[in-house]
Amino acid sequence: MSDFVSVAKHGGVAVVTIDNPPVNAMSFHVREPLHQALAVLRDEPSVAAIVIACAGRTFVAGADITEFGKPVQQPELRAVIALLETIAKPTVAAIHGTALGGGLELALGCHFRVAGARAKLGLPEVKLGLLPGGGGTVRLPRLIGVEKALGMIVSGTPIGATEALEAGLVDAVLDGDLLARAVRFASEMAARGGPFTPVRDRNDRLAVADLAAFDRQAAELAKKARGHEAPIACAEAVRGAISLSFDEALAAERELFLKLVAGDQARAQRHLFFAEREAAKVPGKDLSRRKIARVGVIGAGTMGGGIAMAFANGGFPVTLLETSQEALQRGLTTIDRNYAVSVSRGSLTEAARQQRLGLFKGSTDYADLADCDLIVEAVFEEMAVKQEVFGKLDAVAKPGAILATNTSYLDVNAIAASTSRPQDVVGLHFFSPANVMKLLEIVRAEKTAPDALATVVELARRIGKVPVVVGVCHGFVGNRMLAARGAESEALLFEGATPSQIDKAFTEFGWPMGPFQMGDLAGLDIGWRNRKARGLTAVIADTLCEQGRFGQKTGSGFYRYENGFRTPVPDPEVEALIRAKAAEKGIARRAIDADEIIERTLYPLVNEGAKILEEKIAARASDIDVVWVNGYGFPVGKGGPMFWAGLEGAGKIVERLDHWHERTARPIFQPAPLLRRMAETGTWEAAVGG
Ligand code: NAD
Repeated sequence: MSDFVSVAKHGGVAVVTIDNPPVNAMSFHVREPLHQALAVLRDEPSVAAIVIACAGRTFVAGADITEFGKPVQQPELRAVIALLETIAKPTVAAIHGTALGGGLELALGCHFRVAGARAKLGLPEVKLGLLPGGGGTVRLPRLIGVEKALGMIVSGTPIGATEALEAGLVDAVLDGDLLARAVRFASEMAARGGPFTPVRDRNDRLAVADLAAFDRQAAELAKKARGHEAPIACAEAVRGAISLSFDEALAAERELFLKLVAGDQARAQRHLFFAEREAAKVPGKDLSRRKIARVGVIGAGTMGGGIAMAFANGGFPVTLLETSQEALQRGLTTIDRNYAVSVSRGSLTEAARQQRLGLFKGSTDYADLADCDLIVEAVFEEMAVKQEVFGKLDAVAKPGAILATNTSYLDVNAIAASTSRPQDVVGLHFFSPANVMKLLEIVRAEKTAPDALATVVELARRIGKVPVVVGVCHGFVGNRMLAARGAESEALLFEGATPSQIDKAFTEFGWPMGPFQMGDLAGLDIGWRNRKARGLTAVIADTLCEQGRFGQKTGSGFYRYENGFRTPVPDPEVEALIRAKAAEKGIARRAIDADEIIERTLYPLVNEGAKILEEKIAARASDIDVVWVNGYGFPVGKGGPMFWAGLEGAGKIVERLDHWHERTARPIFQPAPLLRRMAETGTWEAAVGG
């Protein structure tokens, strides 16, 4: 008996209960007493069957992630499972909530698994850059077949109880009092009598496996992995389950696991796992929260429509406001169409669509916002327009309502100053499409009240967003750094690179696409209009826009798009244009390699991050990583720009920035003092503290 594991007898059935809140992680302080309890029960003649269950809201939802990458304290999970498999009497895992990772592996060590109707089961290790290292890759295929197991392990996506029953992963789905029914199930099994075959010895589902088909499926996966080691290692481990003996396959899985867990990608993914949780911690635990029941959204354009959907998807009634009935109708029609697409794709039921549409109320009258507890403005990106809107809001919003702006760049303090209640004003910077993208930059203005901030951070999580609190500056964290990354793209073109060479350097780094593909996808006209408004130029992009080449939507931009396809085809006309413009400027073109492209685009990105950290616009380096991975597609396996700076070596980055600064005198290359300190201290925390 321990605080974490207890045993109770129900007639001849022993119930072993794990109680390690909040999610019953398989920590050392659980494994040790569990191992002891099972060893005793195995040999106890009065016990005819054993049920493993959990207290609290879930079955074991995984390993203890804080133990990864450290020396293992025995007994490790594998030893607990091995012991389970030496028990001759029936063993039953009673699963409620989620059985994930090490939790499902523990359950796979039992003869039987029974689950509550709402239970979910999965092996999500791949999402942390790992594979299931407790025998999951070797046992799961024995229960549900190779193809299904491979899909679950490589995707990391859990399945529900009904699907698990059909697949053979659980033996029964039990309604009502799960524990009582699991005990009954166990005693029935004991009465039926053995021998009971452990999963390790069930080979019939493996025998049918077609190795050639498996290899084809695995090759597909490898292609999709885009440089990620974990999905490939997962497939290799499952292949071991087919082609090796059980014990050999278990050893091979272990070896693959150890290699991954010590590697940079898994370290990066663990870093992000903790970084997201850290970023979402609500500042000031004791603060009261404001009640948010109804949300108002002003502007039903690209962002307003998406933001309104994000709140409706989270169950909030939404009042959507536009300047005219016509604009409102256009916005509502787009929302309707988006939901219809989800239904046609099977990701939303018709009933859910109706329910969500029922949450919208359209209006053209500001007075209708009076019953909203939070109002998010998403009108044109112009200070005068925003200030006018906030002035009107000040007149109609109820006292204590939170007034938010979705501005991409503008000064939130100046927007707040156009109201008599700046303490209620905050920035909520959603990313496009706002109903899909996870990142939410929450901009804390000078006078934002702590309880208003705490309320929106918590609210962000309720609507499935990843919140990061940032301070006021032009472009906040994400767009300000994006500008630093983009600054050299055109210079690289002039000096000799082509758009496709630059994009290739990015995709090889692990980005889903490079800056020019991104520009073509988003529409080059957006940046063009923006530059014109601010008196700026970008010679190549401006010329393309003057020629009507706005990107994918016009069939050409930096690339050509043939016959409506989205595949970018390098265009000799664009390359000729670049050469001509370079000649006009008297720039001699030369060969530029991928290393130089990365140095001149991503080192300034890190450098700008350091400046942001120095100015306390971001509270932690890891917050910046969360922004870049969730909002801009920075490769997960590299952990975000600030984590990657550690992998790359801050000293090397400083040295190369100095080099480029000397050559170009451009401010983006001037190393931030904090980056220099990071090069000396080795971590951002130490650099900031020092
Ligand atoms: P948009 O042009 O698609 O939509 C703006 C909408 O606001 C229009 O429908 C317009 O009719 C309406 N509007 C204008 N003035 C109004 C007023 N006084 N009252 C009510 N409605 C009014 O623009 P968008 O792309 O949705 O951008 C909106 C805001 O979101 C901007 O501040 C922009 O910087 C920001 N933003 C945009 C993106 C993006 O990718 N498009 C991403 C993040 C943030």
